[in-house]
Amino acid sequence: MPGEPRPIARPGPAGLRAPAQVGGAISRPERLLPAWGVVLAVVAHPDDETFGLGAVVDRLTGSGAAVHLLCYTRGEASTLNARGASLRRARAKKLRQASSALGVATVTLLGCPDGRLSGTPSAELAAHVTRLAARHRPGGLLVFDDTGITGHPDHQAATAAAPRAGRAAGLPVLGWTLPATIARRLQNETGQTFTGQPPDRVDLCVRVDRARQRRAALMHASQISPTAVLWRRLQLQGDCEHLRWLQPPRQKPDLTTRHANSTG
Ligand SMILES: [Zn+2]
Repeated sequence: MPGEPRPIARPGPAGLRAPAQVGGAISRPERLLPAWGVVLAVVAHPDDETFGLGAVVDRLTGSGAAVHLLCYTRGEASTLNARGASLRRARAKKLRQASSALGVATVTLLGCPDGRLSGTPSAELAAHVTRLAARHRPGGLLVFDDTGITGHPDHQAATAAAPRAGRAAGLPVLGWTLPATIARRLQNETGQTFTGQPPDRVDLCVRVDRARQRRAALMHASQISPTAVLWRRLQLQGDCEHLRWLQPPRQKPDLTTRHANSTG
């Protein structure tokens, strides 16, 4: 913004800022989310929007952004509790309830095969992102890190579609990630796979309030238990979320040059 001092990032009333200059003078990690008025979040499974992206989505919607959600599968392959059609219906319902609790504007739930998303051509997955981006005109896309966080191939396939669509549409893509230290600790404690990123690969570290994420997580009743690893992860993450650019925002034009041109 013209006249705004740089490189110090000052939180505005909304707690958001314009996309950071990548590779510029601003030190990393950034403390504020990009000031996108509209965001398209892309996930593989019902519950990813909450268990993974929940606190970031809450931060965005709480700051006035319209967050639209695309979820590729109905989660019918879950091995927990119910199975088949009843599980599919239940998870769709819980997805809408939890999304509503997080302030999500719209939910688009597709019927791609749960557990076999990586078998769907990436171009086909990306086309859904492109279609929704054309409808909602987001400032950027929000996805899981390309590691898939838990290494789930569905997560990786969902994430891979976003930069593909983002590149075509000129949209930046922000990936939710975990610090490597937390991922290692979770893996050691639980024996489950978690992949994080070292500090030099984390671009944003954003303060969040987890109250709504925790409430929304409880709505996914078939996927959560008092001993779920999620609770331990949220505990270790504390009130910070870490993110990285999978598709960085374009460099803003030089303001001095633009100003000179516009007044010349
Ligand atoms: Zn998932």
